[in-house]
Amino acid sequence: MADAVNALPFFYGNIAREEAEDYLRQAGMSNGLYLLRQSRNYLGGFALSVANAKHCYHYTIEKKPNETYAIAGGKSYRSPVDVIDHHSQETDGLVCLLKKPCNRPKNMQPKVGPFEDLKEKLIREYVKQTWNLRGAALEQAIISQRPQLEKLIATTAHESMPWFHGAISREESAARLQSGSRNNGKFLIRQRNENGSYALCLLHEGEVIHYRIDRDRKDKLSIPDGKQFDTLWQLVEHYSYKPDGLLRVLTEPSPRQDGHAGLIGRPSLPANHPAPGNSLHHVADGIFSMIKDAARIGRKKPSRGSQHSTTDSSNPYETRVPGNQAASKEAMPMDTEVYESPYADPDELRSSTVDRKQLFLEDGELGSGNFGTVMKGIYKMRKSEKPVAVKILKNDDNNPSVREEMLREASVMQQLDNPYIVRMIGICEAENLMLVMELADLGPLNKFLQKNKHASTKNITELVHQVSMGMKYLEEHNFVHRDLAARNVLLVTQHYAKISDFGLSKAIAEEHNYYKAKGHGKWPVKWYAPECINYFKFSSKSDVWSFGVLMWEAFSYGQKPYKGMKGNDVMQMLEGGRRMEAPVGCPQEMYEMMLSCWTYKVDERPSFAVVEPRLREYYYDISH
Ligand code: AMP
Repeated sequence: MADAVNALPFFYGNIAREEAEDYLRQAGMSNGLYLLRQSRNYLGGFALSVANAKHCYHYTIEKKPNETYAIAGGKSYRSPVDVIDHHSQETDGLVCLLKKPCNRPKNMQPKVGPFEDLKEKLIREYVKQTWNLRGAALEQAIISQRPQLEKLIATTAHESMPWFHGAISREESAARLQSGSRNNGKFLIRQRNENGSYALCLLHEGEVIHYRIDRDRKDKLSIPDGKQFDTLWQLVEHYSYKPDGLLRVLTEPSPRQDGHAGLIGRPSLPANHPAPGNSLHHVADGIFSMIKDAARIGRKKPSRGSQHSTTDSSNPYETRVPGNQAASKEAMPMDTEVYESPYADPDELRSSTVDRKQLFLEDGELGSGNFGTVMKGIYKMRKSEKPVAVKILKNDDNNPSVREEMLREASVMQQLDNPYIVRMIGICEAENLMLVMELADLGPLNKFLQKNKHASTKNITELVHQVSMGMKYLEEHNFVHRDLAARNVLLVTQHYAKISDFGLSKAIAEEHNYYKAKGHGKWPVKWYAPECINYFKFSSKSDVWSFGVLMWEAFSYGQKPYKGMKGNDVMQMLEGGRRMEAPVGCPQEMYEMMLSCWTYKVDERPSFAVVEPRLREYYYDISH
């Protein structure tokens, strides 16, 4: 959405109401002249400014939890542009019809808000310091978790702001404001005991005024009779800019007693940051100290290998973040132990073999496959212990080719290192041949979705996007998977998927971009592209076809594709140009993505380099 809106010529970005009125005046104030700007009060929301009879009117276009947009009390639409289209046909509560867009002056880009401006840098720093990630692992974390990270930063940023003093008493807040400098507009925010409310305490002519900040049932924050905001930092930004009912604007934050943003030297800010005293200064100072805090108190994954002993929760990947309710709900992939390779820790020796004495198998099977069973186990490494999945070759199988197959699978896996691919930890030759892998406890995606029909579209999109990230990595490294299907995507958490089962995978020689099978085998034909069946040709593009089928399985909550059909009938259907229908409730954008993965001609079919960013864009859009 953000990119689509940014491209609109009548979108001005983060400008104030007064600036919007200036632009409308400069453009003549004809009745129905309108422009769109970013809401300064609501995350992801917009504001519509309209001229009529020489006056300007402003309407908030709120973003609802179900990803639709509406002017308060009006009909909901899929985008702010649809809201505008509607109101150009019907007034429906507006002062007049929207008649003419007021376009931005030439060469003016939509204005980037103070927070947006810092966001990129903040997210990067936050991920770097909180999870101690670098390089590709850092980039992948930001790509896959951007919406969550943005929300986390936006809704918790106040906790370490210099003006946020926590749960202190009214008397204490007055004492703090009265000590040291006593400039007009000095302020702080304290937490009150009731229903998540706060108080804004402001020094005016030597006296401290306390304004209550209430939180309503929808979590909106407001000073009684004042504007509503999603976050405290938006509220502070607003009242730093204009008094809007307060006795005066906020100027300088009262220093915190814990030395926040005082003891910690202020890191260099982006070149365009305004002079101290400006409200952005409050935000930046606070956020940078928050990042330092995050590194200190740690929103860190459980220390390597010690998850069993250190967590008291049944889910080892549930995060508990001190003082952070919003973030404690869902673990991000980086919070788990399988985001980075165990060998990313320089203290652990990289080895392709696992010593049997360090491997402890547990009772109970995780599953079974062609080779035998998969068991859960613990692998004791030098510094830590890791929960693992162990694929055990059946001993009664005297067929040497099965053993070779398993070793081939191991050798492919050993060359791969990506957060969205199940990594091999090593091979163990003991009573049986064993392949020791990272554990993805929640099992195959299709089974998980069959049992969890409440999983949201956003959740499914997040997971398939992660699969596309893993597949893009495979494509870049010249491997074809050849068995990509929902059954071979394993879940670490409900929000973290990994590609598994490399039994059919092949490395492709540099000079070709495909692998040619010698003959037809026991193939998952319903997942195969026409060129695989017709010419035995396998490429990353044929994996893209399979990915389309995988998407279909995911959005249909684990149903079987081409149900009840024989392989030959499927081929005929595809050759005849027909494709599976959209799963019930599947977003149109996602069905179109599947159809493009099922492009008949290989050259016209998109690669994962194209599929992944497209999915990413859709995922971000529905997450904001
Ligand atoms: P496979 O032989 O690779 O098809 O594995 C058979 C089954 O074992 C899968 O469907 C999973 O239920 C389970 N399994 C395989 N690998 C893992 C793993 N790394 N973590 C958890 N379960 C696994």
